[in-house]
Amino acid sequence: MTAMTALTRRRSDNQHQEMWHVYYGDIHVGTIGENAGVPIHAERWGWSLGFYPGMEDHRRGGETATFEEARAAFELAWQKLQPTLSEAQFEDWRRNRDFQAWKNRMWAEKCRLPTQNQNGQSTCFCGAPISIACEEHIHTVHRGIGA
Ligand SMILES: [Zn+2]
Repeated sequence: MTAMTALTRRRSDNQHQEMWHVYYGDIHVGTIGENAGVPIHAERWGWSLGFYPGMEDHRRGGETATFEEARAAFELAWQKLQPTLSEAQFEDWRRNRDFQAWKNRMWAEKCRLPTQNQNGQSTCFCGAPISIACEEHIHTVHRGIGA
């Protein structure tokens, strides 16, 4: 028996549009949102499935009249796509998410990135010495920092 991880949605409206971010576990796999500035009878909802990095080539999406239709179309596309995805693709996405969050934390703590120093060396906000090839440090010590 395979454990099915359900999709979850987190609402994050902006000023003009209702917007939902769709997650598979901790992976942000797509969005469903209102299209701004379209006539009332037009296809008012758009959905987009795909995450970057990880699945560059297979982004898909569409437009529908209602949120319910967009949600159904998204879930159908996901059901087809999900068996073709590998854990390595999710891991690519997680590593990038953690790297971006780590970089932001470095800036917030006024730490220089190794690439900002001529000798390519620096100190992480956790105190560890790091070099330009610091992906492994982030992955082992700060895994999940962007979660
Ligand atoms: Zn560190």
